[in-house]
Amino acid sequence: MALSHNAVLQARRAAALPRGLASAFPVFAARADNSELWDTNGCRFIDFAGGIAVLNTGHRHPAVLTAVQAQLAAYTHTAFQVIPYEPYVALCERLNDLAPFSGDAKTILFSTGAEAVENAVKIARAHTRRSDVIGFTGGFHGRTLMASALTGKIAPYKKKFGPMPPGVWHVPFPVPQYEVSVADTLDAIDHLFRADVDPANVAAIVIEPVQGEGGFHPAPVELLTSLRHICDEHAIVLIADEVQTGFGRTGKMFGIEHSGVEPDLVTIAKSLAGGFPLSGVIGRSEIMDAPEPGGLGGTYAGSPIACAAALAVLNVIDDEKLLERSNAIGVLVRSELTRIAQRNGVVPIGYVRGPGAMVAFDVLKARGRTDPDPDTTKRVLQAALESGLILLACGLHANTIRLLMPLTIPDTVLAEGLAKLENALATVR
Ligand code: PMP
Repeated sequence: MALSHNAVLQARRAAALPRGLASAFPVFAARADNSELWDTNGCRFIDFAGGIAVLNTGHRHPAVLTAVQAQLAAYTHTAFQVIPYEPYVALCERLNDLAPFSGDAKTILFSTGAEAVENAVKIARAHTRRSDVIGFTGGFHGRTLMASALTGKIAPYKKKFGPMPPGVWHVPFPVPQYEVSVADTLDAIDHLFRADVDPANVAAIVIEPVQGEGGFHPAPVELLTSLRHICDEHAIVLIADEVQTGFGRTGKMFGIEHSGVEPDLVTIAKSLAGGFPLSGVIGRSEIMDAPEPGGLGGTYAGSPIACAAALAVLNVIDDEKLLERSNAIGVLVRSELTRIAQRNGVVPIGYVRGPGAMVAFDVLKARGRTDPDPDTTKRVLQAALESGLILLACGLHANTIRLLMPLTIPDTVLAEGLAKLENALATVR
């Protein structure tokens, strides 16, 4: 029998690419539209992964394509550091207006989430003239060296890659199912300041308002409030990493807005540009202006094509009321998952959680227990794929299934995807 297109590509890939680059599934994309994707064998999938939280506005949103095509016809690259262009400035103006803090904001653009995090740390260091940064266990901030150092998980992100940059500290992130409370986290910061690092040397605390790769655990409001106080007391910069939570995923433009706490810097990427590589740092003007001219930038940073896409994305979020849609999707998905968790004949699941459409649940060894079941999680993902549904896992124990469907997903496709998810949970039991 002839090998399928996917199998031929898989063999070529294995020979040509290093194994350090892993893919969740051995199917290759041929085309995609909104919340659906077709592979090179012609199979259709409903996309509940959204290219890892990039496609809040769906694959190839028509408004994004139109904006990109217009930009392609004008110019595609000049390097902003050589010849600047209006879409970059217009996008920063829009993002400054959206900044989740009061006072004047400025924004700078890059290409990847990791690059945004790297630069947020550089800006915080330049502003405070201090070196150290604090992150959280289970946090994820990217794969460059400082971003890896800040990431609170060794395998696979830091394994074999050391030494990590110095001056990076971690405290436990509060997660009820791991029995870590906000008080435990605050105690750990207190210990850190007594035993390991003088707060006067700390430039920044970096936190995801909802941990993404770490398992979709929301940062409790009391934690964010306390971090704000700690940062104010010691003149530390509070950085909200909104790379995964941003642009409507949680039902607000930025995840931190659920808490009422104002960060000093915000890192953004992923759904900002609807599938085009773009990231940035939004921050308080006086902090953003700390680095010297020339200290920040990058050849492709703030590509005009990606800026055009992002301007269209922000219009789509407004025009299609995607924040409301995110909340409506969340209500439906959480109620479906809660129903499934209670029914017989499915894999034991629990801890249905997440604000807006940033919903996840855990696959457990037994109903009502806390023991994670990563093997069954893998089998659920595989069964879902075989039935035409793309799902992603995450979490410290790889037993969390997270749902990142486009917020533009039609009701019928959403219902079909949820039915496939329920079937997958019933099939592998
Ligand atoms: N921060 C967070 C919160 C993320 O979720 C990610 C990516 N999953 C990153 C940073 C890194 O982004 P990128 O992969 O674009 O470098």
